[in-house]
Amino acid sequence: MDVAGQFAELYGYEPDGVWSAPGRVNLIGEYTDFNEGFVMPLALPHTAVAAVARRTDGVLRLHSADIDAPVAELRVDDLTPLSKYGQGGWAAYPAGVVWALRDAGHEVSGGADIHLASTVPTGAGLSSSAALEVVTALALNDLYELGLDAPRLAVIAQRAENAFVGVPCGVMDQMASACATEGHALHLDCRDLTTRQVPFDLAAQGLQLLVVDTRVKHELGDGAYAERRAGCEEGARILGVSHLRDVPYAELPSSLQKLTDEKIRRYVRHVVSDDHRVEQVIGLLDAGDVRAIGPVLTEGHASLRDDLRISCEELDLVVTSANAAGALGSRMTGGGFGGSAIVLVEEVDAEPVTKSVLEAFTAAGHTAPRVFPAVPSAGARRLA
Ligand code: ADP
Ligand code: MG
Repeated sequence: MDVAGQFAELYGYEPDGVWSAPGRVNLIGEYTDFNEGFVMPLALPHTAVAAVARRTDGVLRLHSADIDAPVAELRVDDLTPLSKYGQGGWAAYPAGVVWALRDAGHEVSGGADIHLASTVPTGAGLSSSAALEVVTALALNDLYELGLDAPRLAVIAQRAENAFVGVPCGVMDQMASACATEGHALHLDCRDLTTRQVPFDLAAQGLQLLVVDTRVKHELGDGAYAERRAGCEEGARILGVSHLRDVPYAELPSSLQKLTDEKIRRYVRHVVSDDHRVEQVIGLLDAGDVRAIGPVLTEGHASLRDDLRISCEELDLVVTSANAAGALGSRMTGGGFGGSAIVLVEEVDAEPVTKSVLEAFTAAGHTAPRVFPAVPSAGARRLA
């Protein structure tokens, strides 16, 4: 993919540089980020690559090789949150980063020309949006010599998505894209954004982590996130803590007794137990016992299905068919109601397990999912 060459053809001059930022899958810790808890994503080999040049006249030109739309030409001074930018609205993601940088007091008012192309599947729960934001933030950080570190850029990118595009996501996706390293999962404390790179070298262990993109997105998902989030906040309020992260796992049974609302009880049980599962997985990975995380993943799925209730028929089918075919463990990942699941398998079982999942989908009359290995890859970086 010659993104720099495409830039030159499009804009008629050479870019100042080329940057990349990956999509991610989350290994464990779901709906815990906005509860200031723990998550553990890893970066995918799939990346958004942007060729960028700095401008001086306050114009921002945006183009994506993956969208059939002309160059969006905007003025930096005119950027307004929650407006539609470019055909299909995609330009709001990079434009939002420019806005968020300026809103945080960083000088990027000269504008930029940006052309990008991405191999991150969109809408599959693999954070193609975060890849877009983070690659933009990193490029502008370099070109405008802003001196922001990776976590600061991730927060800027999240603010672009929250306040400018209008999607109420947590900070995990942007942190994963900005901070991940090859061969590792990223343990992220969403309270203070401290991170630790946890060795997760699957190939060395003879293992694979498969991503199964179900290619479905159920409507239900739109309001469900906000509803779960509000339920968690209410649970924290009743329990007298600022966030559910502050409920120790050992106190979960007594805490649940204080919650009379059945739904809030389920949400709290999911969040507190998933924070605990992140710690379990870290303990196992640090001990080199990668296979043992399988059952923890499957328990995480049960919690998302039964307590948080954000799974769907297709995601449940991935888990039941993969585990029945000999997977070590599996779970849905991301926001739910469609998107992707992850499946931990022995390398030698990758093919038969994939085949079983595909057969189960055919038998149920579902569209064939897309399956590929999640090789823990590098975070955002400058390529040229
Ligand atoms: P996810 O982040 O899970 O892939 P989102 O709905 O958050 O799904 O983000 C998908 C949106 O991001 C797309 O609808 C599009 O607006 C934008 N996007 C992602 N990748 C690209 C791309 N390569 N070119 C243009 N826009 C993109
Ligand atoms: Mg997204």
